[in-house]
Amino acid sequence: MTTIAQRPCSVVETADITPVRVSDPELAVLGVPGQINLDYAATAPCLRAAADAVTALLPWYGSVHRGAGALSQRCTLEYERARQTVGDFVGARADDHVVFTRNTTDALNLLAHALPAGTTVITYAGEHHANLLPWPNAVRLPVPASPDAAVRYLAAALAEVRRGNADGRILVAVTGASNVTGELWPVAQLALIAHRFGARIVLDAAQLAPHVPIDVSTLDVDYVALSGHKLYAPFGAGVLVGRGDWLDEAPPYLAGGGATSGVGDATHDVRWTTGPARHEAGTPNLLGAVALAAVCATLEAADRYALHAEEQRLLAKLRAGLAELPDVAELRTFDADAARIGVVSFAVRGRDSADIAGRLAREHQIGVRDGLFCAHPLARRLLGEASVRAGWDGVPATALRASIGIGTTDADVDTFLGALRTIV
Ligand code: PLP
Repeated sequence: MTTIAQRPCSVVETADITPVRVSDPELAVLGVPGQINLDYAATAPCLRAAADAVTALLPWYGSVHRGAGALSQRCTLEYERARQTVGDFVGARADDHVVFTRNTTDALNLLAHALPAGTTVITYAGEHHANLLPWPNAVRLPVPASPDAAVRYLAAALAEVRRGNADGRILVAVTGASNVTGELWPVAQLALIAHRFGARIVLDAAQLAPHVPIDVSTLDVDYVALSGHKLYAPFGAGVLVGRGDWLDEAPPYLAGGGATSGVGDATHDVRWTTGPARHEAGTPNLLGAVALAAVCATLEAADRYALHAEEQRLLAKLRAGLAELPDVAELRTFDADAARIGVVSFAVRGRDSADIAGRLAREHQIGVRDGLFCAHPLARRLLGEASVRAGWDGVPATALRASIGIGTTDADVDTFLGALRTIV
């Protein structure tokens, strides 16, 4: 099997990297001519609006929160404006904190760090590692076969935890959309159940946010985490939005300048601030925050239902094309017709996924992902189930994933299906 280290990395020569606009101007994404990106679930292409926002701010480079000059004041203003815009994008409540992080993994680790002592965490075995590993002592619910089963498992687990601990704090950590199957999780119902048992709930919206409008008030989730780089913004900026009380009571996630209002001479004589700054010590990623906010504002202004409808049309075409290929089996947790975002994972009987992904890249300039998608327990289980459903003898070790979004075209999907047909 080809390891990542062995793969050729000169598929794209840097000289080829000329940004082009695809799709309509408001929602143009940057791309490289000739390259087909079907790996949005890993990192989506950058929206033109993000690049424009960064370019406009670059001449104003100045210290954030730390300077008196005009440049610094402008940067501070832009940073706080970005916080407001990103908060609005997810429907943050008045008393929510909007804490900038590096990405979803960082946001969930921040929340894990801020949990009051003794909090019981409940999650599902099928979560992405980012929503599994920060909770090493969590109650792990089995992978459910349907959204209803997910709700039933949670209700039973909450009842069980409450029987042993009537008043203890509980956090339910759940994804909004699976990065393996694209399937949507019944977040609002899970939140309802969680709150009925006096628990809080955090939504891992890394995959959901780029595809579906999110409103924490409507969903009634206590926290939401997302990544800019999956949301058509550059790398390095993400966010944790949610209830301020635990965050204000927790030790700072990062200790340093900006997180304190005063430091005395004695070692422990520190007054930590409250609010987002408590967890954002050090000079922040202003350009990342501003770019993320620019995307949020652009998506807010866009017709997201139309975008969703177009994505669903292309997804249906993609899945139908895969279903026609012999020896290809889709990975899924729920029924084939369950609601999902533009993500589809599949295995090919008796074939090495890494080899297929490599050939798609080298021979057809198509980027997909192969592996277990940082959700090893889920991917392994679904590979087994897919093999049984398809009546295969063995179980492939890894899978392939194609994922789409804004800017994906019919031609991209057709070319991919044609290339895959040739290879398999
Ligand atoms: N959660 C889900 C569902 C994901 O798909 C991912 C990334 O693939 C993450 C969390 C982690 O995101 P990041 O790598 O940006 O921290």
